[in-house]
Amino acid sequence: MTEREDRTEHALRMGHADGTEPPGAANLAEQTDAAARTGETGGGAWLLETVAVSKRYVRDGRPLHVLDRVTLGVREGEFVSIVGPSGSGKSTLFRLIGGVERPDEGRIRIAGRDVTGRRGLISYMPQQPSLFPWLTVRQNIASALAIAGIDRKKAAALATEWLERIGMGDTAGAYPDELSGGMKQRVSFLRALLVPRDVMCLDEPFAALDALTRTRMQAWLLKQWEAHRRAVLLVTHSIEEAILLSDRIYVLGGAPATVLREIPVPLPRPRRPDMWNEPAFGRLREDILTLLGRSGERDD
Ligand code: ADP
Ligand code: MG
Repeated sequence: MTEREDRTEHALRMGHADGTEPPGAANLAEQTDAAARTGETGGGAWLLETVAVSKRYVRDGRPLHVLDRVTLGVREGEFVSIVGPSGSGKSTLFRLIGGVERPDEGRIRIAGRDVTGRRGLISYMPQQPSLFPWLTVRQNIASALAIAGIDRKKAAALATEWLERIGMGDTAGAYPDELSGGMKQRVSFLRALLVPRDVMCLDEPFAALDALTRTRMQAWLLKQWEAHRRAVLLVTHSIEEAILLSDRIYVLGGAPATVLREIPVPLPRPRRPDMWNEPAFGRLREDILTLLGRSGERDD
């Protein structure tokens, strides 16, 4: 297939907003509850899907079954979280989605196309900001955009413009070592946001921050996301973070990890950080805790 045909096919598949099911929807529907399918959470085509993905490693000469037929997805404009305990396989799932590793079974699809094992199709924000220390803040963003195929001049202009927009214009010429942890994460998020990919995958982006900075960063991310509505898949072990930010949550648990449940978050948008006071928030938190507690019992 030529690149042009490839793009055309992509555009055609992206045009499934008329309610026709995209390829792969039938698979996902098996695990998706009725509320999500009838449009309560937006409906529409899956932008990113993992379809019955399984992964095994070998550790100390013994097989380690990490993921067991994990099926989940993100639609256009959706914020979806995966919560699960440490070591449940969340980062492994992201490596499979990013094409850095291949699943033993199952497929990864983007806009209905099989992309299993292919790299460079999602934008990714890691737990540690991973900025190049020898590049300025602006160069860190601009170089990532240039690698993604954006003209160098345009990349630099975009970086400058967006740093201004998030109130970090005066740090454009600074080096990462001169920034606080929260500021580094903002730069890292901006880099992921500006890379022209349909889906952003954020792997515990706030886990390394202190509690206060983390709360501020969640509020900041909410504001940015509600203004731009990119499709996001966020991995976190914080139930509160998942509820505050997400349209839907997949609870991952057990060993090997399976999707224990898919939960729509009924809170209205725009979300406010003080929503944890609301009864619906508390009920959801209890439900997820109970689920994860039960999956823990299963391991014993
Ligand atoms: P999480 O991100 O949910 O904390 P990970 O995906 O990092 O979990 O890891 C899941 C499990 O897989 C852990 O038990 C981890 O030790 C194991 N694991 C991850 N990568 C490898 C690897 N390359 N080889 C062997 N075991 C691995
Ligand atoms: Mg991890």
